[in-house]
Amino acid sequence: ATASRQSLRVGLIPADGIGHEVIPAARDALLALGSSIPKPQFVDLLAGFDLFTRTGEALPEETVQALTNDCDCALFGAVSSPSQKVAGYTSPIVALRKKLDLYANIRPVSSVSEIPGQPPKVDLMVVRENTECLYVKQETMTTGEHGKEARATRLITERASRRIGKMAFEMALLRPKKQVTIIHKSNVLSVTDGLFRETVRGVPKLPEVAGKYDSVTIAEQIVDSAVYRLFREPEIFDVMVAPNLYGDILSDAAAALVGSLGLVPSVNAGDKFVMGEPVHGSAPDIAGKNIANPIAAIRSAALMLRHLGYPDGADRIDKAVDEVLRGDPLALTPDLGGKGTTKAVTDAILKLI
Ligand code: ATP
Ligand code: MG
Repeated sequence: ATASRQSLRVGLIPADGIGHEVIPAARDALLALGSSIPKPQFVDLLAGFDLFTRTGEALPEETVQALTNDCDCALFGAVSSPSQKVAGYTSPIVALRKKLDLYANIRPVSSVSEIPGQPPKVDLMVVRENTECLYVKQETMTTGEHGKEARATRLITERASRRIGKMAFEMALLRPKKQVTIIHKSNVLSVTDGLFRETVRGVPKLPEVAGKYDSVTIAEQIVDSAVYRLFREPEIFDVMVAPNLYGDILSDAAAALVGSLGLVPSVNAGDKFVMGEPVHGSAPDIAGKNIANPIAAIRSAALMLRHLGYPDGADRIDKAVDEVLRGDPLALTPDLGGKGTTKAVTDAILKLI
């Protein structure tokens, strides 16, 4: 990440549903930072299931080209996932992760401490591998002696495990606790999870990182016990690094600990590009009603800034969000028990930024 740009070119892809309400809020949070970041230049881009139903294309080539050639980073809203398979449709977010090689999905989950400055009860980060594991989607169905037999291939490579491991150690360096917990199930899956575990463990010893991660403590946890401990004593975790499927499940579980999907941000990160994306979906049940919680999207913008090398801008956004969350509960959106609107919550945050 270089922090020496004249301007910051940000692709905006609201996509579907509440994406159209929360992405503008995240955009305005970046604008509110004024001169503390390079002047943002926004590029409005199309993608999504709605677009697919209208045009037959979920991810136009122009969007991919604009992201690759004209943008330093992007903010993605959410895509609706049709409940049944629709011919010709593949999720644009999955396609974008592939095309831009965004191999890490980084999801910080934290609660807000009652007293400013006090450490929150939950303050962890799931670093999820984004390209392989069962998501290679190689499934077969055959018929055996006793009926149907379904099989799936689970791919774990040394390269992908090493780069997600490095990302986890990099993240740990930025956090007070500096601990990486490797999540695996190598007691059962000794070949695949064994490779993941060994490779991530080996990251600090790689010649090219030469002592860089000496201050980071390594721990490990079998995935089932990790879920149990996550619910009983979330404070023991800092950075959790996991293969794709465990990471998916763990991060949704962790989101439940802090009260609403509408609070949890993420970035999809590669070596060359970073894309902020709230963890929640398009929430068709509340879309267009001005009641979606904009905080996950606004925090995703902050997280994106952190990855680009602008921690001061990110801190200003995060502090403003925390202050709003500590304020009048009735002013918050309905998912948090309040009566506030998307617009009112956004305005309160913008004012504090
Ligand atoms: P999708 O197919 O896009 O994932 P979904 O129906 O699964 O859509 P999600 O967006 O995953 O919907 O949301 C699950 C539930 O959480 C819904 O009831 C939704 O209203 C709620 N929710 C999600 N995001 C938010 C938000 N930002 N603010 C308030 N409620 C939210
Ligand atoms: Mg969903």
